[in-house]
Amino acid sequence: MSEPVLRVGVIGGGQLARMMIAPSKKLGISLKVLAESEDSPAADAATMVGDYTQLSIVREFSKTVDVISFDHEHVPLDVLEALEAEGVNIQPPSRALRFAQNKLQMRKRLGELDLPMPAWAEVKDAKSLDDFIVANGGVAILKTPIGGYDGKGVMVVRSSSDASAWLNDLDSFGGSLLAEEKVDFVRELSQLGARRPSGDFAAWPLVETIQENGVCSVVLSPAPEASSEVIELTKNIAKRIADGLGVTGMLAVELFETRDGRILINELAMRPHNSGHFSIEGATTSQFEQHLRAVLDLPLGETKPRARYSVMVNLLGLDGTNDFSKNHDAATALHPEISIHTYGKAARIGRKMGHITCIAESLDEALTGAKGAAAVLLQG
Ligand code: ADP
Repeated sequence: MSEPVLRVGVIGGGQLARMMIAPSKKLGISLKVLAESEDSPAADAATMVGDYTQLSIVREFSKTVDVISFDHEHVPLDVLEALEAEGVNIQPPSRALRFAQNKLQMRKRLGELDLPMPAWAEVKDAKSLDDFIVANGGVAILKTPIGGYDGKGVMVVRSSSDASAWLNDLDSFGGSLLAEEKVDFVRELSQLGARRPSGDFAAWPLVETIQENGVCSVVLSPAPEASSEVIELTKNIAKRIADGLGVTGMLAVELFETRDGRILINELAMRPHNSGHFSIEGATTSQFEQHLRAVLDLPLGETKPRARYSVMVNLLGLDGTNDFSKNHDAATALHPEISIHTYGKAARIGRKMGHITCIAESLDEALTGAKGAAAVLLQG
């Protein structure tokens, strides 16, 4: 008799679920996706279409798989807790995921673990926000604790009057906002790692992320000229977070490197992350394969680089007519190690439509290849 096939159920049919399809075939496991709509990026693996906020729907989906995991962080905690109480295997579990869903909870927990962060405060009214701004040099970053992504839900404030719309609508953010010191950073970094429920942890090389208008646009792997102290420290931070919060599957720790050489944690994601897309071509094991292995508690794969440098460039939609097939050949002709990934999404300005990775022996070569290919494709 053949071995039973392991089944992973992913909630959310976005590009992250889409990029798990190929490694699921390689690993010989069955990937099932609970998608939001019939035409989602992961439609090829969608075995159910339904509303992930409804307990009955997620319960029905959970009966078809061995473990539930995620393409996004938006499944309500009470839905996950109810299913865990019924014995459903959810990775990462709700006790970890809560910290990726709520930035205030995350700050509190990282504080308990004594991990390095920007100064922060929970703000419930104009007075407490103004006090924080004054104590932090006349400026602060204000964040909605839940539901923010790609810079939505983040604003620079110099007075509570800048935030009156949010302060008047506190209930929709769970009753409070997160104020943070505005960090004077020289660059943003991301440390990726994966942890199995039984405890093994594997990290990839530290990467640098470059954002445009709050959206990640370029990732450089490894982070150029990172000191050995920083490389050691960021791995250690990710491991302490994974262990301390009980994270399973992929963990991305977004970090700031400050002018005076400090490393501060910005935020966490507990799923494959945009800063790890380079790993599909640039590492022995991609973050998507590793996520599947980790949530199934299978041995983790090697995370060694496949080339000296990998550069990933996001294809952000320019208008309603992006057609990446038109210039595909011209883009790949620029360098032999260019890989183009498209997500099958309708074009919208600024939307993540796909990405390009170029691996090479020099940073310049990888950067020129990936950026050049993106420019050619976006002409389509
Ligand atoms: P999102 O959840 O929308 O991705 P982030 O918390 O990652 O929001 O913030 C988006 C961007 O805003 C960051 O990538 C960074 O450039 C900037 N930012 C966030 N927090 C701070 C901070 N405390 N100081 C300076 N810049 C910040």
